[in-house]
Amino acid sequence: TRTPVTVLGLGLMGQALAGALLGAGHPVTVWNRTPAKAGDLVARGARLAGSAEEAVAAGPLVIVCLSDYDAVRGLLGPLGGALGGRVLVNLTSGTSQEARETAEWAAGQAAAAYLDGAIMATPAAIGTDAVVVYSGPQAAFDRHEPALRSLGSGATYLGADHGLAALYDVAVLSLAWNVLNGYLQGAALLGAAGVDAVTFTPIALKGIETVNTWLPGYAKQIDEGAYPAYDSTLDTHVAAMNHLIHESEALGVNAELPRFVKALADRAIAGGRGGDGYAALVEQFRSPAGAG
Ligand code: NDP
Repeated sequence: TRTPVTVLGLGLMGQALAGALLGAGHPVTVWNRTPAKAGDLVARGARLAGSAEEAVAAGPLVIVCLSDYDAVRGLLGPLGGALGGRVLVNLTSGTSQEARETAEWAAGQAAAAYLDGAIMATPAAIGTDAVVVYSGPQAAFDRHEPALRSLGSGATYLGADHGLAALYDVAVLSLAWNVLNGYLQGAALLGAAGVDAVTFTPIALKGIETVNTWLPGYAKQIDEGAYPAYDSTLDTHVAAMNHLIHESEALGVNAELPRFVKALADRAIAGGRGGDGYAALVEQFRSPAGAG
């Protein structure tokens, strides 16, 4: 028999979470501020609790997924001791500080354990290969791993620091936005030359694949703090960055992002990194105003 699970919050994501648990055969109790959103889930076998307190009493694993941490605090605060002995898994997006504060609060409620998670997927991917990351006590993750894995086969435990899930979340979002911005810059450049995005995209994808292969080598350099140029020096990169700026300006395309990227590289070169590889730029990211 599968662990009974409570899901608090039935927005787009909460409904997907509860649906995946039902699909995996878990008894599921749900609660939502607006009860009508439970309709489909109840039709599939979920039990709709009359109050959040009643929902939390239903089993050992409580998953909460609301708009933000203020909503979570507002909902769970009055429940207090009702959470005693439960494993509370919060999949609401927020900051690492909010996650750590919620962990402290949960410890005061005698919840058996608090896991803070972050969902790196859309509702449609929940129950398939979605990546959901978790931080907090490992024993709680291990105990409920089968249920958590039914939310997404990419379930990953990150470590005991409750802030890690939120940090990984924004780190991967930063990655996604930067890749997308580079792609959009390229689409704008080629669009100005009459090439449509559909034509550009296969070559763009090859470019992303090439960059993928650089990361493991750069990871070692970043951790070691030494950036020997085994492929291309920053001096060589900056020459190409100038071409990007000039092409953008000549075509009447926005050159702000290219100029910013070059400004980072210029600072690194001014600091003596011109002969190093690209990973040396990490020092520009490590301090608030970039390294000198
Ligand atoms: P929705 O806006 O669809 O749902 C929000 C949920 O929060 C609803 O259940 C809503 O209740 C509830 N809620 C909001 N305020 C309160 C409150 N004060 N008290 C009680 N309940 C409240 O958002 P999603 O489901 O899409 O997102 C939920 C979380 O999941 C967010 O933190 C989001 O960042 C995260 N997430 C979402 C992704 C997505 O693609 N949708 C992807 C990754 C993470 P009610 O129905 O009554 O309004």
